[in-house]
Amino acid sequence: MSRRSPVWHPFTQHGLNEPIPLVERAEGAALYTADGRRVIDAISSWWVTTHGHNHPRIVAAIREQAERLDQVIFAGWTHEPAEALARGLLEIMPGGLDHVFFSDSGSTSVEVALKMALGFWGNRGEGRHRILVMQHSYHGDTVGGMSVGERGVYNRAYSPLLFDVETIPFPHPGSEQETYDALDAACAGGDAAAFIVEPLLLGAGGMLMYPPAVLAEMRAICARHGVLFIADEVMTGWGRTGTLTACEQAGVVPDIMCLAKGLTGGSMPLAVTLASAPIYEAHLSQDRARMFFHSSSFTANPIACAAAGANLAIWREEPVLARVARLAEREAEGFARIAERHPVKNLRQCGTVIAFDLEVADAGYLSQLGPRLLASFREQDVLLRPLGNTIYLMPPYCISDADLDTVFAAIDHALTSVIGSG
Ligand SMILES: *Cc1c(COP(=O)(O)O)cnc(C)c1O
Repeated sequence: MSRRSPVWHPFTQHGLNEPIPLVERAEGAALYTADGRRVIDAISSWWVTTHGHNHPRIVAAIREQAERLDQVIFAGWTHEPAEALARGLLEIMPGGLDHVFFSDSGSTSVEVALKMALGFWGNRGEGRHRILVMQHSYHGDTVGGMSVGERGVYNRAYSPLLFDVETIPFPHPGSEQETYDALDAACAGGDAAAFIVEPLLLGAGGMLMYPPAVLAEMRAICARHGVLFIADEVMTGWGRTGTLTACEQAGVVPDIMCLAKGLTGGSMPLAVTLASAPIYEAHLSQDRARMFFHSSSFTANPIACAAAGANLAIWREEPVLARVARLAEREAEGFARIAERHPVKNLRQCGTVIAFDLEVADAGYLSQLGPRLLASFREQDVLLRPLGNTIYLMPPYCISDADLDTVFAAIDHALTSVIGSG
């Protein structure tokens, strides 16, 4: 589209003049564009859409709430959509996370988690301030989020803004002990405030996966040293990994948990940071200087909370996990067929997320392969967005068998025409 637009898009190099389709509406797993195309959304619009676009129950909740109360200050005031949502979250999320702090995005839920951890230690008069992170992690694009995430081309220009962290190696199969030893040593240092981790599945880092037993062991190491354990479930939450949260598979209850993306079924921007009683109580006092100092204009926006309330109702009343299990099975079958015809590497799956790597000389985020694959998928009306040389699928749970077959055919065709395999 050569149309001149004042819009500056995220993660987009406008100098390449790549087409930017105009989307007019969406339903289920499909996007409809102004030029009359029906595009299958195979990555849930960047990992947010769980039950499908424009889910009737969520749309109805948004409409109803918009007519009643659009927005109200949340410092010192409250409203029923937020109260009901907080109560509902406590019912279905891991026990022990009894306090719900609202914000607007995954990145801010992480900033909140980090500030809570530092506030916890500060209010207890202990000078713990160091954050431990896992190699290849992604926790958002705000300054705190970037600081605790992998360093690379996407944040190099901003590195003077980023604070120092201690990085624990990723637990590749066979080298888990190195991860444990590094984490144990970092925790023993005495200045470690918290360890932040994406449970089971590192998304933007390349859809890297590790088993529940490793998550459980890392949690145990932190507990042994009294280091707070922050689970960033922004992407893994809401059924993505096959269970409501990824932590559940490891029997892990973190001290702090971040949820966003699928919290509203992917319909509205909203996030929560769940905290255990000790975190909350460390801020509880007659002294106003010890309160938790964080807010934003739209904290707990009522319309977004109503959308999240409808998402909770869907989880309570519909067989979401059965849908997730069936989708995961169909994805595995489709990918097995791809693997028979093409030389793919590291085929891996965690719930509804399935990924493989392609052998290229310039692996990594700026791999030249990415744009060519992207163009092929676009021509075939499938929304897939390879991470460097990694192709992955993360569809909405409502995707039909026919649409999923179309996605696999598109991948097969792209590999044949771009890589020349098959
Ligand atoms: C997407 C993501 C974030 C950032 O969420 P935004 O809503 O994009 O700010 C943080 N952590 C993880 C694990 C994510 O996948």
